[in-house]
Amino acid sequence: MQIDLQTLWYLTVGTLTVSALLLLWERQAHPGRADVLAILSGGLLAFILGCIVAMNRSRFPMTLGMGATNVLMMSGYLLVLNAAAGLDGRRHVRASAVALGVIAVVWVVLGTQAPAAFWNHVAALPIALASGLTAWTLLRSRAVQGLRSRPLAVAISGAHAMFYLGRAFLSPVLAQWYGPDMLSAIAKATMTEAVLYSVAMPMSFLALVREEEKRQLLRLSQTDQLTGLANRHALFSQGNRILADRAGRPVSLLAFDLDHFKAINDRHGHAVGDDILALFARILRDEAGADALPVRLGGEEFAALLPDCDAEEALRRASGIASLFAAAAVRSDGPGIRATVSIGLAAPDCRDLSGMLASADGALYRAKRLGRNRIESAQPNRVSAAA
Ligand code: GH3
Ligand code: MG
Ligand code: MG
Repeated sequence: MQIDLQTLWYLTVGTLTVSALLLLWERQAHPGRADVLAILSGGLLAFILGCIVAMNRSRFPMTLGMGATNVLMMSGYLLVLNAAAGLDGRRHVRASAVALGVIAVVWVVLGTQAPAAFWNHVAALPIALASGLTAWTLLRSRAVQGLRSRPLAVAISGAHAMFYLGRAFLSPVLAQWYGPDMLSAIAKATMTEAVLYSVAMPMSFLALVREEEKRQLLRLSQTDQLTGLANRHALFSQGNRILADRAGRPVSLLAFDLDHFKAINDRHGHAVGDDILALFARILRDEAGADALPVRLGGEEFAALLPDCDAEEALRRASGIASLFAAAAVRSDGPGIRATVSIGLAAPDCRDLSGMLASADGALYRAKRLGRNRIESAQPNRVSAAA
């Protein structure tokens, strides 16, 4: 099958247009990333204009047509680079403007001397550099760290950079060996790659933005809004994984319930109640242990899953949390009221999270019955203990 160069240019303009429109459409669905998607679609627009000038460059003086194409294309690549930097809230406006100015001046001063060499080889260098920087920026981005689509996005920009590096350094050698036919083959290869890049690159950015938003929503759905702790949903989704990873090693679970909390609300108001909840959450997070999973189960009920922690150590941590909480609540520079917590420790023979929670809850109710502001341990189940 033979496709002529002009058809490939048309095809590239078509795929770029579809990609740009898709980005603008998706922009409305991702307001947090509207700027990144707008900059990226601006980049695609610059590519489209570059293609249109390139397709009509015979109407202009030779160097002007080639130079203008190259400057427009480079504007596109620099906008793509800025979109990548924008993921972490950064911009390279001044550096981009300087780079464009230098490219324009180089075309005027040197491009006029050897327009064909510039068009075929030299112009590929800044493209390789900008795409390489885009890949590097995506690789270093903190915002998209850990996303499945990040290596894909890095690979697409990186492969594009390598292709243009080859066009800058390899294609002059190939042209020397195989004659001018090779140049036309390289031009077709360049445009075929351009069609693929004009779809793959924007799609890789879209994949990043969608995956990042999904991760944020998942995090939100597992976070308690008032205290910032993990919620019940997170306890079950992360806790079961923690238990599975530590089969055969001790894992403890503490259940907490603030004492007479309704009375605190009634006496001091709901806002003070909220402050007490936030205070307890802070102490729980700081004192439960570095690898612990502290959660707000709901209302004034909390829990902490403590991996690699036996009953003795769990009781020690529970006691520290209870005394720090009581001391912090009563401090005059804090809420300045008397508040305590009752705590239940799950029996060490519990095998699953629901069982641990029920066991710790049983101990907690005993702590309440026995007068509150105390820690009780659940007794091991006799049947399983005997087994
Ligand atoms: P006990 O010592 O037996 O645990 O008694 P209690 O008063 O702590 O328990 P109870 O279950 O009767 O009351 C819990 C209260 O917690 C009732 C509810 O209004 C309050 N509460 C639940 N969620 C919140 C919240 O987000 N903020 C505030 N300020 N209060 C809350
Ligand atoms: Mg309660
Ligand atoms: Mg309570």
